[in-house]
Amino acid sequence: MTRAEIVVDLAAVRHNVRTLRALAGVPTMTVVKADAYGHGALPVARAAREAGSEWLAVATLDEARALRAGGDTGPLLTWLTVPGERYDDVVAAGVDLTAYSVAELDEVAAGVEVAGVPARVQLKVDTGLQRGGAARADWRPFLERARAGVEAGTWQVTGLWSHLACADEPDHPANDAQQDAFDDALARAAEVGLDPGLRHLANSAATITRPQARYDLVRTGLASYGLDPAPGVPHGTDLRPAMTVRAELALVKHLQAGDAVSYGHTWTAPGPTTIGLVPAGYAEGVPVAGTNRLEVAVGGERRPLRGRVCMDQVLVDLGGDAPPAGTEVVLFGPPGEGRATAQEWAEACGTISYEIVTRIGGRMPRRHVDTATATDREEPS
Ligand SMILES: *Cc1c(COP(=O)(O)O)cnc(C)c1O
Repeated sequence: MTRAEIVVDLAAVRHNVRTLRALAGVPTMTVVKADAYGHGALPVARAAREAGSEWLAVATLDEARALRAGGDTGPLLTWLTVPGERYDDVVAAGVDLTAYSVAELDEVAAGVEVAGVPARVQLKVDTGLQRGGAARADWRPFLERARAGVEAGTWQVTGLWSHLACADEPDHPANDAQQDAFDDALARAAEVGLDPGLRHLANSAATITRPQARYDLVRTGLASYGLDPAPGVPHGTDLRPAMTVRAELALVKHLQAGDAVSYGHTWTAPGPTTIGLVPAGYAEGVPVAGTNRLEVAVGGERRPLRGRVCMDQVLVDLGGDAPPAGTEVVLFGPPGEGRATAQEWAEACGTISYEIVTRIGGRMPRRHVDTATATDREEPS
């Protein structure tokens, strides 16, 4: 008996990481922020390392601390801090920090004094996303402060990087413009005599669709989980969705024509049908925006959800069939056997698959499985 749960296949994660590593031809940095996009940071981190990903990345220092506490000791990048962060322990733990400004570099230097060991610092330049990273007007002082810290033995600069705004639209002119700006930043670094370390720009979409953006390293998040980072863009990359969300039918009942369903009576049965109660709702991350739009698989058959998504539950149209209560409902998962995918759910809700998998959870337990056969495990990395 399982009311509702998330099942993550680590063999799929390993397959995706190996596929991306082979495709990129340069080291991969598997992005495991936000609890590995809802897949479980520690088990995914282990699987990614096992599959040959040289680097991991998270956003926050606390996420990095959790990985270190969980036993991960490999190269690990972070990139989101605020003034007043504690740096000494993460410096001592050998975590690579990303700085966006001179002020941040000064704070890292203070953390190094406490830690008593040099930091590992990467420099982020904003090339047009207008999000994190040093603005172009500040590149010179920023790069000079970084070089001064190298000369003083305060840190080692291990990377210089930026992030693309439109990588999921390969023909978007912003991609070329950002890459030109990135090359410019690298030239500025050379001018001030700074070795940039690893140069990196590509996220999942750019890794797959923009070979010239791969530089020394690619930062792969979504694709590592088997989801398509550039939906609608043809590419032959074999990705396997790692997450399945499943539940068991709690109840099956008959409806007559005219019976209206769930809060607000937003759907009315046009004729006699049967309806099943799925015990997961928006508290589990089933989007209310999916009301009367989402589909699930019940006993291997595709079925539409009906009526407003509630906090704990939602209803599914069984089209007159009456599978027994307890029948498996797959909310989404890898394609096949009637299953909807996270990408289909995203399209139905007007969002992106990132949001679907990252927000799914709530009261649902998450279980990791490993479907690898002996041959899968021997797949070369
Ligand atoms: C989240 C994130 C990534 C990973 O992006 P995907 O599209 O999931 O591959 C890479 N770099 C940065 C800076 C990010 O914030």
